[in-house]
Amino acid sequence: MNGQIVYLLYFAPLLLVFALVVRRRDRREREMLAALNEAREAGLTQPPSLHPVVDPLRCIGCSSCIHACPEFPAHQILGLIDRKATLISPTDCIGHGACEKACPVGAIKLVFGTAERGVDIPRVNADYSTNVPGVFIAGELGGMGLIRNAVSQGRQAIDGVRAWLKTASRAPAEVDVFIVGAGPAGLAATLGATAAKLRYRTIEQNSLGGTVANFPRGKLVMTEPAELPVVGAFRFSEVRKETLIAFWEDVRSRTGIEIHTGERFLGVTADADGILNVSTTRGNFRSRALILAIGRRGTPRRLDVPGEELDKVSYTLIDPAEHAGRRVLVIGAGDSALEAACACAEAGAATVTLVVRGDNLARARRRNQEHVGRLVDERRLSVLYNAHITAIGKDKVAITIGGARSALDNDVVIICVGGILPTPLLESIGVDVQTKYGTA
Ligand SMILES: Cc1cc2nc3c(=O)[nH]c(=O)nc-3n(C[C@H](O)[C@H](O)[C@H](O)COP(=O)(O)OP(=O)(O)OC[C@H]3O[C@@H](n4cnc5c(N)ncnc54)[C@H](O)[C@@H]3O)c2cc1C
Ligand code: SF4
Repeated sequence: MNGQIVYLLYFAPLLLVFALVVRRRDRREREMLAALNEAREAGLTQPPSLHPVVDPLRCIGCSSCIHACPEFPAHQILGLIDRKATLISPTDCIGHGACEKACPVGAIKLVFGTAERGVDIPRVNADYSTNVPGVFIAGELGGMGLIRNAVSQGRQAIDGVRAWLKTASRAPAEVDVFIVGAGPAGLAATLGATAAKLRYRTIEQNSLGGTVANFPRGKLVMTEPAELPVVGAFRFSEVRKETLIAFWEDVRSRTGIEIHTGERFLGVTADADGILNVSTTRGNFRSRALILAIGRRGTPRRLDVPGEELDKVSYTLIDPAEHAGRRVLVIGAGDSALEAACACAEAGAATVTLVVRGDNLARARRRNQEHVGRLVDERRLSVLYNAHITAIGKDKVAITIGGARSALDNDVVIICVGGILPTPLLESIGVDVQTKYGTA
């Protein structure tokens, strides 16, 4: 009897701890399963580009990959289901690749695309040239994401351009290299062109910083040190988006590099004398080489209505607090539109109206639909279905709702209707593009 009591005294706490651990693990797994089902219901199953694939036969369920992901815990991209690592939130994956490195048994490999949806990746040679003479590709457009990779590719693409210039046409040209995009790749290429004393023209449809400039206010950017031409190493590892953009702005003013913002690249052809003829929204320019550093996010889709060029119109929400006290109109029915509308309503906008072309919000995640529902009930947000904006004025917007014309008082318009991916642009230039269905 005494022996049994001793056993109980020793083992009961152990059993209790074990039971608590198992219960916590099962609860966590149920949450992961719910998150996965929610992503599936909303059709958010396809990662944008490079992402992990887990071999369930090798996975030992140690969770190292989950905690190694730099996006964790802000985004739960990998989670354990049935004790195996699973891609829970594929659309949030930005291809850091830290999970692959962290896996102790080599169960993860990084691939582009999935069996259901291919990802178009241009064929790029080791010197960043393409099959089109004089056309180079640097940064995420070539398939490899991350700021550090973009910086180093932008720098190296200039080496490729310099080698090309030795054999390129000697006919007159306005610049040696035309650089499109001022994200980290385009910035590094521009600095590289300066260091190499090349004549260059850099254009950017938005503003300096590329995708980083569109991150939400205060986003923590995880990066690794990288070498920028002219200015040397930048040593950030964890940095707020604003600090990184301020650093790049400082580099721009210290070095005097010129970046033509608000200018969009439209296409390129080769003139009869072998010089490239680059077409942009500001004219045509003859250049010996072209670097496309346009990333993979594409160009935001426009409504193409009068007034869309007004300053009050934007295509991403960066800081909802900026719109406090204003009358905001958000256009779109996807997650980014719903998230933008909710964020503005909660940041104290005077009114927020979500304008939806169809008659439901089924395309968005359930939690975003529910969030909108709550704010509608609290009268902090209204949704107009079957609605189309027909013109944007300084303080009014013309709209048709179910075919009937109307006008809304308005200070801010945020258009979240998706983007035009770069593949058609690449194909129109003649760049070879391959579609990857789950391969490296
Ligand atoms: C939500 C999110 C979080 C991320 N977090 C991180 C992180 O923490 N750490 C990290 O290392 N990476 C992160 N990334 C990835 C990183 O932002 C990109 O890999 C990197 O910005 C790629 O740089 P890039 O210069 O190749 O392209 P981009 O930064 O995309 O820049 C391309 C530029 O080209 C411009 N452009 C496109 N088309 C045209 C045109 N026709 N004419 C003129 N200009 C054009 C665009 O406006 C854009 O400014 C994140 C990405 C996302 C979406
Ligand atoms: S690190 Fe490897 S073994 Fe561990 S959970 Fe992730 S995939 Fe499985």
